[in-house]
Amino acid sequence: MSANENTEPNIGAQVPEGDYIVRATAKGGKIRAFACRTTELCREAVRIHGLSPIAAAALGRLMSGVLMMTQDLKNDDDTITAIVRGDGPLGGMTVVGNAQAGVRGYCHNPAVPSTYHKPGKLNVGEAVGQGTLTIIKDMGLKEAYTGKVELISGEIAEDITYYLAVSEQTPSAVSLGVSMDKNGVMHAGGMIIQLMPDASDDLIDWLEQRIGGFPEISYLMEEGFDPHQILDLLFGDPDIQYHQTTKCSYSCPCSRERMERNLLTLGLDDLNHLAADPAGIELECHFCDRKYNFSNNELNGLIEQLTQK
Ligand code: ZN
Repeated sequence: MSANENTEPNIGAQVPEGDYIVRATAKGGKIRAFACRTTELCREAVRIHGLSPIAAAALGRLMSGVLMMTQDLKNDDDTITAIVRGDGPLGGMTVVGNAQAGVRGYCHNPAVPSTYHKPGKLNVGEAVGQGTLTIIKDMGLKEAYTGKVELISGEIAEDITYYLAVSEQTPSAVSLGVSMDKNGVMHAGGMIIQLMPDASDDLIDWLEQRIGGFPEISYLMEEGFDPHQILDLLFGDPDIQYHQTTKCSYSCPCSRERMERNLLTLGLDDLNHLAADPAGIELECHFCDRKYNFSNNELNGLIEQLTQK
């Protein structure tokens, strides 16, 4: 990608209200960067799932990381799914991001009690525990690309960093933050910084130092920095190029038709079992808690469809 493509003006650039992702390059195109604000979509996840503070932090970090990764998707129907399996009390999480910068997710134990490294600093790693991070990139090919790594700390940012290094051979610095108070999510966001393969050793050293001493994302957001300003502050590069700003949101594409398709994939035995209940069944979408009722009659209709094949 050339450094000049889709470049937005740097001075007085229109920074959207609400949640968005910005993609930029700096240092003559040798570094590429993503930064996002995800406060509102994290609040939406809390509202849907009734997340405890530590569950909100864990899921919010993973959603922010996945959203920035979706910026590399090429086709409208492409998706990235991240699955965290851990032996901690959170019990694992699933997040799906799409090419329209929509994201959805859930964790298995949304009400898990919050524990802290120190006052105000949630111990997300303990809630997640030891386990694995699996990333599935569905890009319309016959087989989806799947990468799986051990969790490094369960704090999510380090785990995504490790995944990007090992599975995608892309050295990256990932920073993710969700800050909470008694009223819920105050700020959420993140950034991913990546060196291009032709970056010099000097630039690598400079970036490591810069990131090593950089404040936490949630601190910067509390201080009022938006994603553009966070990247400005990090690079201090007057020639930073902003390539694209994309609104992001919590969105679930579930529908009655999709639920029907899922039911059909269960097969005859399971469907007959479900249809045995004269009251019908209620299915709930894991991602948005929307409920879908199927009457006994409708289930029998699906069984008919299957037997006629
Ligand atoms: Zn849904």
